[in-house]
Amino acid sequence: MDKYQDSQKNKLFKAPTHDPYCLQKVEGSALCPQCGAVYQAGNWTWHTPESSVIADAKTVTCPACRRTADNIPAGTLTLSGGFLSGHRDEIVHLIEHTEKKENAEHALERIIKLTDSEGSLVVTTTGIHLANRLAHALKDAFKGHADYHYGDNEYRLDVNWSRDD
Ligand SMILES: [Zn+2]
Repeated sequence: MDKYQDSQKNKLFKAPTHDPYCLQKVEGSALCPQCGAVYQAGNWTWHTPESSVIADAKTVTCPACRRTADNIPAGTLTLSGGFLSGHRDEIVHLIEHTEKKENAEHALERIIKLTDSEGSLVVTTTGIHLANRLAHALKDAFKGHADYHYGDNEYRLDVNWSRDD
């Protein structure tokens, strides 16, 4: 099957599995050996499984750990503008705090890394929801302006947030 047909098929079924990093089929339950996330009933969570589940669980690296290892983000948030340099610590604190809250609810939503690039701060994430939530948190806390660019398949999101002063 070629790539085009594949994406068409996924659109048709509206499956949450259109993300190539989630295509891997897992039967039953699984544990990620890297982060300890648990796959149960079709979702990766931080729930502590019952011992019977652990006994049967396969060892499968979760999509978030694979994205992090491959450095293939789902979300990219680029922060720029004069406000950033004077308030970097507050901004980074907000970003880390927001990640913690999002990740507690959604095990696959994580920050891959923060990178300084020519006066901008680039935050890459394993899930688009976290990138979206980070941008909203920035707007709520510091105002500024945010532009959202979703990829065709809705598993890519680029956000640019900026505030001049
Ligand atoms: Zn993992």
